[in-house]
Amino acid sequence: MVKKLATLSGCYTYNYEMDSSNSSKQNNNPSPNDDPADEGNEFCPGFKDVDAFVKYGLGTVVAATKSSASLPQVGDEYDFYRSFPGFQEFCETQGDTMLHCMSQIMKYHGCRAQMRDRNKLTGLEERYDLVVDANDVILEKVGILLDDTAGVNRSQQPVMPAGFQPPKIVVSSWNPIRLAKETFRLLHAKNITRPQLKFREKVDNSNTPFVPKIFIKPNAMKSLPSYFTNKQIRKERPEDLDVPAALADFIHQQRTQEHVEDMFAHPYQYELDHLVFSENQLSKPEPQMYKPLAETKCSFIDNVEDLVAVNEKLTKTTEFAVDLEHHSYRSFLGITCLMQISTREEDFIIDTLDLRSEMYILNEAFTDPNIVKVFHGADSDIEWLQKDLGLYIVNMFDTHQASRVLNLGRHSLDHLLKQFCNVDSDKRYQLADWRIRPLPEEMLHYARADTHYLLYVYDRLRVDLWEMGNGQPALLQTVWQKSKDISLKKYMKPLFTENSYMDLLRKQKKAFNTQQLAAFRLLYGWRDKLARQEDESTGYVLPNHMMIKISEVLPKEPQGIIACCNPVPPLVRQQVNELHLLVQQAREMPLLKVRDPEMPLFGPHDTSRVPESEFPSFSPKGKLFTNNVLCLVLLVLKDKDTVKDSGHLTVAQQKAYIIVDSFQNPFRMYLPSTEIHISKNAKFDPSTKIYEISNRWKLQSIEQQHKELEAKKKEKEDAKAAAASESTNTGAKKRERVASGTGESNPKPNKKLMKAADKQEECIPPAVFKPFDYSQSDFKVFAGTQPHALVHNLFVNDILLHLHTRPSFFCGPKSNACAGNRSMSFFGGKSER
Ligand code: AMP
Ligand code: MN
Ligand code: ZN
Repeated sequence: MVKKLATLSGCYTYNYEMDSSNSSKQNNNPSPNDDPADEGNEFCPGFKDVDAFVKYGLGTVVAATKSSASLPQVGDEYDFYRSFPGFQEFCETQGDTMLHCMSQIMKYHGCRAQMRDRNKLTGLEERYDLVVDANDVILEKVGILLDDTAGVNRSQQPVMPAGFQPPKIVVSSWNPIRLAKETFRLLHAKNITRPQLKFREKVDNSNTPFVPKIFIKPNAMKSLPSYFTNKQIRKERPEDLDVPAALADFIHQQRTQEHVEDMFAHPYQYELDHLVFSENQLSKPEPQMYKPLAETKCSFIDNVEDLVAVNEKLTKTTEFAVDLEHHSYRSFLGITCLMQISTREEDFIIDTLDLRSEMYILNEAFTDPNIVKVFHGADSDIEWLQKDLGLYIVNMFDTHQASRVLNLGRHSLDHLLKQFCNVDSDKRYQLADWRIRPLPEEMLHYARADTHYLLYVYDRLRVDLWEMGNGQPALLQTVWQKSKDISLKKYMKPLFTENSYMDLLRKQKKAFNTQQLAAFRLLYGWRDKLARQEDESTGYVLPNHMMIKISEVLPKEPQGIIACCNPVPPLVRQQVNELHLLVQQAREMPLLKVRDPEMPLFGPHDTSRVPESEFPSFSPKGKLFTNNVLCLVLLVLKDKDTVKDSGHLTVAQQKAYIIVDSFQNPFRMYLPSTEIHISKNAKFDPSTKIYEISNRWKLQSIEQQHKELEAKKKEKEDAKAAAASESTNTGAKKRERVASGTGESNPKPNKKLMKAADKQEECIPPAVFKPFDYSQSDFKVFAGTQPHALVHNLFVNDILLHLHTRPSFFCGPKSNACAGNRSMSFFGGKSER
């Protein structure tokens, strides 16, 4: 620590060195300028220019680093020196001076600076944190100043209304936006009150599929199902009860299960399916020039009366243009912040933060099949409208789709505006923080330009489509059709599954060993849970590249985790100890090497690389459930009642049964199981993974039963064969085989299941077995941020990892009786390491 402080203070020793007389000459540093004549032109006191200051500063840093390196080493050497009162005194006075110096610097930069408080037990750790914080603040300032100097931020500051704090521009290294430096920047205003706090309806970040927000359906050809009109069912969520969130979701789903088909359908599917494009829409139009901006009325709408008036106006038009601005960094699902609407006559900018719960009013115009809604690139808009505002679009024309059909080469809005309106649009604000209120003039102007010209662009594109189609409506029809398909899109909430981390990892193309992979899985789970809970984006909680870095490095110390992140995300700093526990947990995994550098080897538990056709029929989708023991537990879950009733359980089944009975699995709804355990809602939503799994499960369970019977017959033969091979093959050899050949690591759970069961019966008497009592677990932790909550979150998998890594759970690690079984010998071998 002395070393660390010395090194750190070395960076900031300007004042200190200036005060102490011995420094510069002794260290052969370039001397500060002491010619009084130059004083007036000095860059800063004692230095004639930046170069002189930098040279001096660097020299000091090097000297300080050298000095700190030559201090007695921590351990015996240091303790020995410490036994001399002179040394002790020297250390203390030097330490005090350094702490004082650091406090001064930190105070100067507006950081907390209680460096000299030595009395606390936790003083050292706290001081270290203070230094890290201060370093971050200072380095961030340096970064901003450097950017300023380089001209990155110059002249692009949005003009703030008087009294408004100018947004701080972050050239963010957390989520680098690899775009032209001058064109796109993340404008990030600090200290914005979170708009979520004012939402009347709480944001639903739960790990359950999205349910449409609609409760009134204007322009209906088919009326809205009772689920949506009956507020009772919708509002009655068991969240108020003192139950874990996952359980609340489960109960809610049970209550609403008869409505599932309605719940996940597109509310305007029928209307869109029966949409007829009018003669007008399919013929050549006469382009109507847009009104000059200066002559067009533009209203900012932030109250219900005005919104109703806008709706009135819109329902009287035959077409209007729409666009949205969205914010996704400081929210888990993102927030629609602004809606721009332009008619031929006027522009409206609607504050969708203030009017979030009232925006549904516009469905009257938005779903009117006789009014065309013009969007540019509506894919996201359609989802955002549903997600935040409960709005749907019937009869849309997407100018982006038209541009594609016309093969215009570039399909961005700026390009169309340049081409048809000769307007240079300023896309600098695309990535601005649209939560800022009041909106700066420039941002309003930008937002308005996104729709103001769009109806004219729509006219021009239709003319071109008509002409390119040789005076036939075919191309127009194509665009209308494509636009309709986009309107039919349904918003999908990101759902966390046991293997969502694999999807991300595959994209990263990282070759991870088993420990790194485990860390990545745990961090991914931690991040997802925290992001939902704190309503932050996963990128804000822990950006991908940092998560990968931590998984790669597997830091032994919490500080090591901090070191993997620059700048350190606030929630990482806050929970660094929890993260450290997760990394430690990952480090406890048996270490298996990677064979194929192109693709990570995910250990014998991971079957994600095994072609589905090869995957044992037992496992749904071949990904979620990855090992024999899980199969055993699932089998018990599935056959819980029948097996129990039949009265003759194998010991293995009994054990699994006890385990299963000892916990309440909050993710039960995701397990293929009897009707009681599966979430019906999800099962009926064809877009969910659960639907896929559930369907597969149904097909497979029949096959499974056959296989079970077969397996039973073969069981004794296999046991004999296994016993024979056991005498020639050591456990280690088998382990190697499993570890090196991914194809071979593909277990055949049915057979193995039975074999394992068989072996376990031979291994130990039932009385020895004591399963971990999960009934004692505090499931309230689901609401908390503790890492063990996470461990529970990744529940089934972890029990099973537990079983894997502790073979003595089923049979002693050295038990020879188990060695013959391929999977058990593997587990046994691992634990011996
Ligand atoms: P636009 O339709 O171009 O006004 O964009 C609508 C919203 O999409 C913006 O408010 C941003 O939230 C988001 N967006 C647009 N372009 C980008 C981009 N290049 N990267 C990330 N988000 C974007
Ligand atoms: Mn848009
Ligand atoms: Zn826009």
